[in-house]
Amino acid sequence: MPKPEPQCPKCRSTKLRQKMLSDDTTQMDVCPDCRGGWFDGRELPAVLSCAVDDLSIPSDAERTSSVCPKCFVPLARIDYPDTSVEVDVCDQCSGIWLDRGEFKAINLQRAAFQDRLKFYESQPSPKSLKEAVIQFIDRIAVKYGEVR
Ligand SMILES: [Zn+2]
Ligand SMILES: [Zn+2]
Repeated sequence: MPKPEPQCPKCRSTKLRQKMLSDDTTQMDVCPDCRGGWFDGRELPAVLSCAVDDLSIPSDAERTSSVCPKCFVPLARIDYPDTSVEVDVCDQCSGIWLDRGEFKAINLQRAAFQDRLKFYESQPSPKSLKEAVIQFIDRIAVKYGEVR
C-alpha cells in the first residue's frame, strides 16, 4: 500500500508539497494554501541557525486538533524556547509545524535573545553586592521578561 500523502495539519485536505531548501540537502513540506511548513525534527537545526537542538515536549503540553502529517497523532502546542512563538510539535517523530512567518520570527527572536545574553555575559564581574544583584536581575529580565 502506498504511503498516504502528507496533508496540511491546518487546512486538512490540502496536500503538502516537498520543497528543497537552498542548502540542497534539506527538504521541507510546505502547504500551498496557508504557506505553513513541516520540518522533520532533525531538519530544523540544519535550516534555523538558532534552533534548539533537542526540543522537549512537557507532559502537560496542550494537545491541538491538528494532526501530524506523518504519524497522524495530535500535535502538542508548545512555546518555542526563548521566543514568544507557539509551535505545534509531534511527540512521535519530533516533527514541527510552523505557520507562515513563524520560522522568521523564531530566527529573529532567538538571535536577539542570544545577542543580549552575550552582552550581559561579557559585562565585567560585579565589584559590589549591589552591582551583582543588578546584573542578576538584568539577566533574569532577558531570559524571562523582555522576550515576550
Ligand atoms: Zn495549509
Ligand atoms: Zn509525527
